[in-house]
Formats: sequence, structure tokens, C-alpha cells
Amino acid sequence: MSGCQNVGLVPTMGALHEGHRSLIEASVGKCDTTVVSVFVNPTQFGPNEDFDKYPRTLEADVEICRVAGADVVFAPSAEEMYNVPHPLTPSPVGAGGNLTMVMPPLDYVDKLCGKSRPGHFDGVCTVVNKLFNVVRPDYAFFGEKDRQQLIIIQKMVKDLNIPVEIVPCPIVRDADGLALSSRNKYLTPEQKTDALALNKILHNIKMCYNKGITDIKSLSETAYAFLNENHSLEYIEFLDKNDLERKEAADSDTVVFIAAKVGGVRLIDNMELDCHAPA
Ligand code: AMP
Repeated sequence: MSGCQNVGLVPTMGALHEGHRSLIEASVGKCDTTVVSVFVNPTQFGPNEDFDKYPRTLEADVEICRVAGADVVFAPSAEEMYNVPHPLTPSPVGAGGNLTMVMPPLDYVDKLCGKSRPGHFDGVCTVVNKLFNVVRPDYAFFGEKDRQQLIIIQKMVKDLNIPVEIVPCPIVRDADGLALSSRNKYLTPEQKTDALALNKILHNIKMCYNKGITDIKSLSETAYAFLNENHSLEYIEFLDKNDLERKEAADSDTVVFIAAKVGGVRLIDNMELDCHAPA
């Protein structure tokens, strides 16, 4: 590889689907060399989360990477990645543990998924930082599906002067509008139908906003028409698309974020109010 070739990195946890494939293809289209990392990162899972159960399908993942045009699949073990057999994160006050961690600012993590998953984004920022140091990419591709993660990574890169350009990639959905996710594999066909409510709620909020409603309480309340006893709603939040500040009223910089459990499977989605792309 000559010195002026550029490298794109697509960090993933595997169980690859069309959403991941769109990131890989974006990298292949922009970069000379594309590296896909496949690593189910233990430090971003809480003690009662699905780390052990998380789908692991490396052989199929490698094939998807190959077909999409990736050059390298980097799939380290936890020990290789962390240099210790059992990576232990420090407590929130920095005591204990056996790792140096990267912690994003509280304002970025005290809401959305960060609120219900304490320490999650410390694990994400730490592993992404490590991947950047190992792979040294010029570009790194992240999906808007995990928009809080994307905004936090952009903040980390800016704050720590990391020499990489973050490339946001749009959410890929199935024909019914469900945002693709590795966790969709856990859903039964009936639960999949219930899961469509998330996207319908976001669409409906956007429609109401386009009709001139900007009051956040009124917009939030429109969600209930789409929810039934199979949904356990975690949040609907209206935040600024640049820094995740809470909005007083919906405007063109607003992103609506939603999370709900369906049959015990935690699903997330989000939508920009001012975006005209089909969702
Ligand atoms: P994960 O394997 O879930 O950690 O995701 C790896 C990357 O793929 C992240 O940047 C995600 O935001 C992105 N991603 C996952 N699902 C989708 C999707 N449906 N559309 C676009 N990007 C996605």
C-alpha cells in the first residue's frame, strides 16, 4: 500500500445486515482500503444486558464484508483488544477496574440510551478510540441509526484532536420501515409488527410538525395512538441534532429519538424533523 492511500474503518459488533453493508459500501466508495471491525465489546454492556446472548455470526459476516468489497475484517478477541483476560471497567467515580477509559461529557450521556445504560458510552468511546489507534483510519463510518453514539463520537474526535473524519450514514430500514438492527433477530413475526410502531410514531410526529405543531408535549402525546400493551416505551425525546441539548419547542434542528421494548427486545429509532429523505 502506498503512503497516500486512504483507509476507511467501519466499526461493528457483527451480525451484519443491510445497514452495516451500507456503511461498508460507503467506505469502499470513498476509500482505497476498507477495514471492518467485528467486536462484541464487553465494556459497553451493563451487567444485566445481552452481552452473552448477542448474536455472533463471524463466518457470515466475513462473507458480507467480502461481497461488499471490504479489504480487511478485524475480529479480535476481548483479550487481544484489551490486553487483559477480563477487562473490568472502573466504577463511575474512577475507582477499581483495570482499564484506562474515555468518558464523554455528562450532558451527552445523561439522556436517551446513556440514561438507561450507565457507562455504555464510556465503553463505546474507549473501544472506538482503541480501534482508531490500532487501524489508524482516515475516515470512520457510523450509522445515524445510533445517532447519540454518532454525536458522542464526533464530540470525542473533536475534543481529543483525533485525526479521523467521521462520516455519518443514513438509517437503512426494511420495506415496512423498521430500522434494521442485529437485535431484530430476537423478534417473532408478531413482535416485528408491534416494532413498526416506533417508525410510525416518528413519521406521525414529523407530519404534525410539518402542519405547524411545535409544542413538544403535544407532539409526544401523539405517540400513544400507536402503542399497545406489548410496548414498553422508554423515551421520546426532542433534542438538538448537533449537541443533544433538549429543545424547548420543535424546530428545524430537532431530532426525535424513541426507544421501546417489544417482547423484551430493546429497539431504538430517530428522525430529523427537517429532513426530506424518505424514512
Ligand atoms: P452495531 O454492530 O450495532 O454496533 O452497529 C455498527 C454500525 O452500524 C453503527 O455505526 C450503527 O449505527 C450502524 N448501523 C446499524 N444498523 C444500522 C442501520 N439500520 N442503518 C444504518 N446504520 C446502521
